[in-house]
Amino acid sequence: MHAGKGEAMNASEAYSRLSDHSKQVSYLGSVIALLHWDERTQIPSKGHPHRVGQLTALAKMYHKMTTDPVIGELLSVVEIPDLTSDKLSVEAVNIREWRRIYDRAVKIPEKLAVELARAAAQGQAVWEKARPQDDWPLFKPYLEQIIALKREQAEALGYENEPYDALLDNYEQGETVSDLEPIFEQLVTALVKLLHRIQSSSRCRDSSSIEGRRYPIVDQEAFGKDVARRIGYDMEAGRLDVSAHPFTTGIGPGDVRITTRYKIDSFTEAFFGVIHEAGHAMYHQGLPMEHWGTPICRPVSLGLNESQARTWENLIARSEAFWNYFYPQAQARFPSLREVSREDFYFSINLVTPSLIRTEADEVTYNIHVLLRFELEVMLTRGELEVEDLPDAWNMKMQKYIGLVPPTHKDGVMQDIHWSSGAIGYFPTYTLGNLYAAQFLKRAEQDLGDLNSSMAGGDFTPLLLWFREKIHSQGCRYLPRVLVQTVTGEDLNPMYLINYLERKYSEIYKL
Ligand SMILES: [Zn+2]
Repeated sequence: MHAGKGEAMNASEAYSRLSDHSKQVSYLGSVIALLHWDERTQIPSKGHPHRVGQLTALAKMYHKMTTDPVIGELLSVVEIPDLTSDKLSVEAVNIREWRRIYDRAVKIPEKLAVELARAAAQGQAVWEKARPQDDWPLFKPYLEQIIALKREQAEALGYENEPYDALLDNYEQGETVSDLEPIFEQLVTALVKLLHRIQSSSRCRDSSSIEGRRYPIVDQEAFGKDVARRIGYDMEAGRLDVSAHPFTTGIGPGDVRITTRYKIDSFTEAFFGVIHEAGHAMYHQGLPMEHWGTPICRPVSLGLNESQARTWENLIARSEAFWNYFYPQAQARFPSLREVSREDFYFSINLVTPSLIRTEADEVTYNIHVLLRFELEVMLTRGELEVEDLPDAWNMKMQKYIGLVPPTHKDGVMQDIHWSSGAIGYFPTYTLGNLYAAQFLKRAEQDLGDLNSSMAGGDFTPLLLWFREKIHSQGCRYLPRVLVQTVTGEDLNPMYLINYLERKYSEIYKL
């Protein structure tokens, strides 16, 4: 791209050139996303080395386009009150985001960017080998290198109080440790208390389970698609495939895909996976597509994106009203469920069991797993904790919060992929998603009246339309905390999630 040196350029011309450039970058990004989707769902096993070559070539092009110095020149032309004084206008939001993305990209020296990419690729490959063998000494030096580079990255990006803030900002713009800590503390204290009450209830010994029965995979797929369509995922503009780890990818307008994984003897794994990803996909499908290719047509943050998935997966699809409508259909589809009453089914999909593994955790213990990781990440980034001492710190916190000590590293400190790939600052977005979800749903109920009766009749449209208007169609107009304030009239408040969980599980466990 050329800025047209020597010619005077007015702001609107510069803005339209930035828009065009942004769209070209987005097309390239969506081609990369499509290749990644294909790699995880379709590619023949011998095709992987060629795919690495394709992706590396495209990544170079992408990096060159996003760090083109002309972007900086054009930005300095458009950053004038005419275009930016109304902070909520499409133009102002796009300029704000272009500036942020560009500044972050150019603040990282190329040498550091290359080292980070290499350390992440190596770290992940070593983790994949070390985890099944429970080989912490093999993984440790790679993690040490990643943490050192992430500290360096935080310094390069800059921060006010806390190096971790610079990393967190990658995923949740504007969020900080000092804002998060009191909220997380209040949440974990309440959750640990609730967990103890559940564990001492007599129903806790009731282990009736719907797992371990037979759920033919073709039926699981058909049922998952039926339900996803019914709650509002437009499958004419999407599709459902199989991958080792479920994900959603927004390729572009009219094309937002999801994946899941099936186990013949598990109903919950694939089903709730589909609903979770459909929640992400409905968010993508509701973005302001008329602005596709510019920043405003993007989810606000990982936490906001996660809030949409968690709303549908947990608050809706693990509710009684939802199954009042869907359970007869599930029983018609799966003979294994015919002898299970709806009440037992509902209890079974909401079992609370302290466990070692985050991804298998229930609604009550899930956030405790996240908070533990957040505390460790902050200490690692500050240099208060060395990787050498990480397994002991992990185990002590597991004992303190969940009451379990992992017998192995693979079920403890080495269980997640995130750290191996350099994703430090990512975990808190899961809990933020749960917090946002509970607060939004409370507001939706105030605006729409009782949702249970429409859900029990199989009508999910009022809720989806509410999300479309308040959240999806706004794209990234508001930063996460401002969006919460704008939609609910209140700052982020953990009491919504705490109250929701206490009410629901007091009823289920008869506390
Ligand atoms: Zn998710």
